[in-house]
Amino acid sequence: MPIQPTAHYAMGGIPTDIEGRVVIDEKNTPMPGLYAAGEVACVSVHGANRLGTNSLVDILVFGRRGGRHAASFIKENDWVPLPARPEEPARALVSQVLNSTGKERAADIRDVLQDEMMDKASVFRDAAGLTALRDKLGELRERYRRVKAEDRGLQYNTELLEVIELGCLLELAEVLVESALARQESRGGHYREDFPKRDDVNWLKHTLAYQAPKKIELKFKPVVITKFQPMERKY
Ligand SMILES: Cc1cc2nc3c(=O)[nH]c(=O)nc-3n(C[C@H](O)[C@H](O)[C@H](O)COP(=O)(O)OP(=O)(O)OC[C@H]3O[C@@H](n4cnc5c(N)ncnc54)[C@H](O)[C@@H]3O)c2cc1C
Repeated sequence: MPIQPTAHYAMGGIPTDIEGRVVIDEKNTPMPGLYAAGEVACVSVHGANRLGTNSLVDILVFGRRGGRHAASFIKENDWVPLPARPEEPARALVSQVLNSTGKERAADIRDVLQDEMMDKASVFRDAAGLTALRDKLGELRERYRRVKAEDRGLQYNTELLEVIELGCLLELAEVLVESALARQESRGGHYREDFPKRDDVNWLKHTLAYQAPKKIELKFKPVVITKFQPMERKY
């Protein structure tokens, strides 16, 4: 029976406020009408280590709060006018994959991505591994431009789905690696072997990642401390 480790939980995610509204900057400006809740969201209750608590907070508490807020938002707001042909980017993406003349298979690229991320960007990381991984991701993105789906059908085409998901995985891997390289300390599920100490003076802050034309841009957001003062976690 083949056994493979799997990701238990993805820490971080789409930043939201406590109403589940997606926020788009360091000042917590909400994006009107866009909500996220659950593991995909980052409402920032868990700090850098969700394993110390549980997913029920994300799902039940903030799912409910987000749902309630979305329901009242809908009552008070009308649809925004859509741009002409709003489906065009999605159509272009699908047709690019289905008409690709490249020779790369998504499964081959995904295998390398999985191995490399597991080896160099799981909990234990260091600058040398992450820098090598950054280069490897560039190579994989290049290969991904030549990816093709052998199944060219339009009904229940799971290969097409996998190709599109692989593009998302590559983007997220880049966000993860750039954020991990920048954070020169250890905290929660991020252990930098070259910076083993937690550093609240410089790093008690959230990382925000933005897709700039050529690279990932990082900004930082302060952590709001209320009742519970930060202290070293001891088991
Ligand atoms: C092995 C394992 C063990 C775990 N153990 C624990 C534990 O002991 N305690 C704990 O608190 N947490 C645990 N977790 C984490 C917890 O299970 C998850 O964080 C939680 O289930 C996430 O819930 P969710 O509703 O946010 O997302 P999910 O449960 O991932 O739900 C997302 C849903 O969206 C669907 N979907 C995806 N894409 C689309 C699309 N394009 N269109 C429509 N639907 C779509 C998916 O099919 C899925 O049903 C564990 C996770 C794993 C993997």
